[in-house]
Amino acid sequence: MEDTMKKYAIGVDIGGTNIAIGLIDDNDHLISMDSVETPQEGTASEIIYCVVSMINKMLYEMEVTEESIECIGVGVPGTVNKESGKIEFANNLAFHDEDLVGMLKERYNKIPIAMNNDANAAAYGEFIAGAGKDVNSLIMVTLGTGIGGGIIIDRKLYEGMNYAAGELGHIVINCEGIACNCGRRGCFEAYASATALIEQTKAAMKKDKESILWELCDYNLEKVEGKTLFDSVRLLDKTAEKVMNQYIYYLSVGIINIINIFQPDMVCIGGGISKAGDLIISRLLKRVQEEEYARASNKHSRIVMAQLENDAGILGAGLLVRHANMKCE
Ligand SMILES: [Zn+2]
Repeated sequence: MEDTMKKYAIGVDIGGTNIAIGLIDDNDHLISMDSVETPQEGTASEIIYCVVSMINKMLYEMEVTEESIECIGVGVPGTVNKESGKIEFANNLAFHDEDLVGMLKERYNKIPIAMNNDANAAAYGEFIAGAGKDVNSLIMVTLGTGIGGGIIIDRKLYEGMNYAAGELGHIVINCEGIACNCGRRGCFEAYASATALIEQTKAAMKKDKESILWELCDYNLEKVEGKTLFDSVRLLDKTAEKVMNQYIYYLSVGIINIINIFQPDMVCIGGGISKAGDLIISRLLKRVQEEEYARASNKHSRIVMAQLENDAGILGAGLLVRHANMKCE
């Protein structure tokens, strides 16, 4: 396939566990993807070496020339300073203050390249190509190890003056609450992340040896995951139902705060937990409808599960550069 038109974008998602890349066609569809494990304790140059070999392999396999690549967008788990192009703070990577964009640029010097926070990229991916295709404002809340956030207002990603806006996991929902690794107490993510849900489930199990939760995790607390709780709720286990209601309460407090601030068209919930779908959404909606400030209005923010799963980060990283007129090196 000989094609000199610039019509492909490349999205790269560098995570603490995996590095994933994807080729995006001119209809914003992901047409090919690949992922490898992130080199543990990997230096910036080791990671860039990985990314470059993955990109080259993909271009070769898809018979796409470098000349037809319009841009490369990179998502990283950290705060990206758009002025310096450097990662200022990365939670799950073994380095910081490295100029990843500059290093990639040495290899692909004719292609515009830019970097973004991975939660922002995931929000933008869902907005352009997933659950948020038909809305103007969307807040993405990703329930994982922590809680990731991304804010799209009037079709634009909102980044804040330090490019660190959207840290929705660190809004406080309980002033005297659990200490968070950000230095505050009672952060949303300490109560409503997937990690928190699992801890809450384990604590309840220790108090109820009869619960079916035990059977569903092979009587091994180490095997408890979100699914253990959701399956037990479906089996009408009383302890599971209690944990679920408490968890939904925490989740709803954070989500209602977000809705009261932004009044977004849509709140999109991502992360592994989003697979529980209606089990969470129906309970959450009930609380939101009872407590949100504008509950008497005719229109309400839609609350939906994300559609793209892991693809959102790759797509969003590429599409942010394609659509958002980001400053590129
Ligand atoms: Zn915090």
